[in-house]
Amino acid sequence: MSIKRNILLNPGPATTTDTVKMAQVVPDICPREKEFGDILAQMQSDLVKIVHGSTEEYTAVLFCGSGTINMDICLNSLLPENKIILIINNGAYSARAAEICHYYNLPHINMKVPVDEIPKLEAIEEILSSTPDIHIVYTTHNETGTGLLNPIREIGALAHKYNCIFVVDTTSTYAMLPIDIEKDNIDFCMASAQKGLMAMTGLSFVIGKIKLIEQSKSYPKRSYYCNLYLQYEYFIKTGQMHFTPPVQTVYATKQAIEEYFLEGEDEKFSRHKSVNEAIYNGLKELGFKEFIKRELQSGLISSAIYPDDENWDFEKIHDYCYERGFTIYPGKISNTNTFRLCSLGAIDVMDIEAFFAVLKKALEHYNVAVPVKYNEVIQ
Ligand SMILES: *Cc1c(COP(=O)(O)O)cnc(C)c1O
Repeated sequence: MSIKRNILLNPGPATTTDTVKMAQVVPDICPREKEFGDILAQMQSDLVKIVHGSTEEYTAVLFCGSGTINMDICLNSLLPENKIILIINNGAYSARAAEICHYYNLPHINMKVPVDEIPKLEAIEEILSSTPDIHIVYTTHNETGTGLLNPIREIGALAHKYNCIFVVDTTSTYAMLPIDIEKDNIDFCMASAQKGLMAMTGLSFVIGKIKLIEQSKSYPKRSYYCNLYLQYEYFIKTGQMHFTPPVQTVYATKQAIEEYFLEGEDEKFSRHKSVNEAIYNGLKELGFKEFIKRELQSGLISSAIYPDDENWDFEKIHDYCYERGFTIYPGKISNTNTFRLCSLGAIDVMDIEAFFAVLKKALEHYNVAVPVKYNEVIQ
């Protein structure tokens, strides 16, 4: 069977291999069967292995949902009564975490940092040293809205210095950028199958310290469906997820994990980096400016600023590219219009070259000046 190959440059779901797509076509099975539970158990340990954790110390807890479910779960499940969460917020995803705290009425400090800057460690330490009730320090590894990479190892070390647990949203770095859960001082990280793993949507997972999950047994239960301890405990008792899992996505993820280990962590990271490099060069050639300074970028996402050209219309450019098999995506910054080109997925430099040929044609088609113009000089 031949399946049309689309190049997704949006920040997930990603372009997948045909073998991952086809892995979903399996005989019908009830996910309460032991055969299915065995797949989940193997997956849990593989997911820990991807971030180099020991399965004696860390586990992966699986959930049916998109990546946001992980954020919800970690925030609502890991906070003891009368304790506070510190959100280090320099982008749309950490802002979402603060919003989750708000909806659950979780006491939190929303430490806002400009979206094009990394947080200052002294400023974090000042808050930690003056607020002894902080229990969770939370941030986002790669702010997917912009492509800014946060210094998690250093933030994690500070969190531990003040006896806090460190929760990191690694949804847009997991299985793309090498992570060492222990060395990076991570107590909990998270991702979903459709991003770095290049599988399908619907399966998400929190990877964290078993000891801390067990401690959370006595914490207030603020959600029935989205509680970390309850899901963890249910799997230990039964070998199953508590509620119906996304069966076909699990099969696709199993295949994707096999392909991940076959490609290799360093090789995969190099591929994403060369794709990002090709994106950077392609943008530069057309005159586009990037929003985030190159040295602060994760190397996985480029945010290009809309040109100052009356003929520029993102929707039209998007549609032109989309019709030719390339998906581009708007940015997530409130005061600057940007679009994003991401290097996740089963794509390579050749795909990016093909994309830029199409993007150039799109600009010419709509009479956008090339190289693109800006009124102000942006550094
Ligand atoms: C994709 C992503 C999420 C989850 O978003 P969903 O729309 O729920 O899949 C969370 N955090 C980050 C950093 C992400 O990139």
